[in-house]
Amino acid sequence: MKLFSTIESVREQLNLVKTEGNTIGLVPTMGALHDGHLELVRQSNQLCDVTIASVFVNPTQFNNPADLQKYPRKLDHDIQLLESENCDFVFSPSKAEMYSEAPDITLSFGEIENNLEGEFRPGHFNGVGLIVSKLFNIIEPSHAFFGQKDLQQFFVIQKLISQLNYPIKLIRVPIVREESGLAMSSRNERLKTEDRQMAGLIYETLKKGKSMMKSGATVGETKAFVGETFDQNERMNLEYFEIVETRRFSKVSEINQEEVALCIAVNIDDVRLIDNLLLFS
Ligand code: AMP
Repeated sequence: MKLFSTIESVREQLNLVKTEGNTIGLVPTMGALHDGHLELVRQSNQLCDVTIASVFVNPTQFNNPADLQKYPRKLDHDIQLLESENCDFVFSPSKAEMYSEAPDITLSFGEIENNLEGEFRPGHFNGVGLIVSKLFNIIEPSHAFFGQKDLQQFFVIQKLISQLNYPIKLIRVPIVREESGLAMSSRNERLKTEDRQMAGLIYETLKKGKSMMKSGATVGETKAFVGETFDQNERMNLEYFEIVETRRFSKVSEINQEEVALCIAVNIDDVRLIDNLLLFS
């Protein structure tokens, strides 16, 4: 596995790979890797000739400076894990390398930004759009792998690819979970042991909400159930629970044929956890 920290060096390497006609799978990450990230690498290895993972804690997508500051960083460990998964290349640039000038271009994704993560994290998707566009332009992958864990982000990237004509196939990878059901996340390691176990309640509640809806409960009834569940738990603060159609991430009041997801954000102390379930899968 080869490690690159400059744009020039990674481009040079990938130019060689491309002249040999290989497909290139990109797995963008912010590091502190876990099995969820590694599943993206595994899928890329299966589908592509060459896999490159990027590890970069992207400052422009953090609306909360404390969250950025506390974000776990463990590059040496990440490199070991990627090597054990037979990842071919790692691109791990510095902030100065990625943002040699402060960007004044802004990206806005329309209605999808008005809800959920867009609403609660102003500027977040602009930062995601900027860094992913940069990575696409630097790496020029044939495939890009993103997790369902960040479902709204996935649809933002889908828009980016389709509206800016990137010749990239976007692959959605299902959520990998801890034994308790908690969706794996780099932020989980900031939870106290007992909180981490208790956080399995998020997935439990999503599953119950989904089965209620499948048995005919209304959106209002399901939201009330989820609200009450978290009202009864002092440690867990519900930021939002919404039932949305995934094209625009707009809230639905009744279920029709569109792809519908149950999406949730919960805070335990200052650790913010998100999760989702698709209604029809
Ligand atoms: P992050 O490092 O949190 O920015 O995540 C990098 C990529 O890994 C994103 O596409 C995430 O959606 C994906 N990812 C994070 N956690 C999981 C998980 N538990 N299961 C599947 N994919 C994940």
